[in-house]
Amino acid sequence: AKAYGKSQLALYSETLQEEVNHRLTLENALSEALLRNQFELYYQPIVKVEGGTSRVIGVEALLRWWQDGTMISPDEFIPVLEESGQIVEVGEWVLREACRQVKSWHDNGLPGLRCSVNLSSRQLHEGGFAARVAAVLEETGFPASSLVLEITESLLMQDVPDTLATLRELESLGIRIALDDFGTGFSSLGYLHRYPLHIIKVDKSFITRAPDDERLGAISRAIIGLGRGLRMDVIAEGIETPEQMRFLRDEGCHYIQGYWFSRPLSADNIHPVLVSLSTL
Ligand code: C2E
Ligand code: CA
Ligand code: CA
Ligand code: CA
Repeated sequence: AKAYGKSQLALYSETLQEEVNHRLTLENALSEALLRNQFELYYQPIVKVEGGTSRVIGVEALLRWWQDGTMISPDEFIPVLEESGQIVEVGEWVLREACRQVKSWHDNGLPGLRCSVNLSSRQLHEGGFAARVAAVLEETGFPASSLVLEITESLLMQDVPDTLATLRELESLGIRIALDDFGTGFSSLGYLHRYPLHIIKVDKSFITRAPDDERLGAISRAIIGLGRGLRMDVIAEGIETPEQMRFLRDEGCHYIQGYWFSRPLSADNIHPVLVSLSTL
């Protein structure tokens, strides 16, 4: 039994060691990624659909990492950046790059296009965050009124004392705050009135099987009603089919994001899509 235990231990520590090594290699590669220009932003349109017309109102910036010609998914590397703290620096690059890009679209025929940027809690909880955002806006000439910062419920759940003050500071700059992935985390309706939130994004897991799944349909319907009652904009994400489009239109959800309109694409590739969605 002893020998067995020992070999198990050896096996375990080897895998653990491998895991630690893998982590460190990944962290090192990520810290070079900024220097080597391996990060890129993709953009996905957010479209307002009303009375038979569709018009793009904004884009969400989504981070991509290219390593040796392979694209690595943010779900794989964002958690590593968050744990190591590198997300603070990378997140600021994302914000600056997105503002710079969308500003150039403002100046070239797409005025007022909103820019949504995802935030990690590490960024928001880092002291002086609102001032840093203000500096990026100043530097890029991007209007605060076109910036949307997307946060998740888990960020609010951490209950860090300065969170409310920071969000209020951002709001007073004219920035909108969106609650992303609504309903998937540790939802508390209390957040909706305790914090200055302007937009709810209905998570794609609710929409994917609505309207076929009655219960998921009921949840989507309730979230949409809640958002409208609170005079927030409600964006449904992950829309892929005409059935989903019809369902959302019937429920009065006018802001749509999903492959139905476009997958996230590079700045160059999304530009013609934005132009065509601005004139429909
Ligand atoms: P998210 O913020 O919920 O972003 C939406 C995700 O849904 C994106 O995945 C998008 O490509 C995908 N999506 C959009 N429409 C559809 C659709 O119709 N069907 C399906 N199946 N999926 C759709 P992506 O780009 O892989 O990003 C994954 C997550 O990584 C994001 O989820 C966000 O949490 C995180 N992320 C991405 N960029 C950043 C960033 O710059 N900073 C931070 N902190 N997180 C980021
Ligand atoms: Ca998001
Ligand atoms: Ca989301
Ligand atoms: Ca998500």
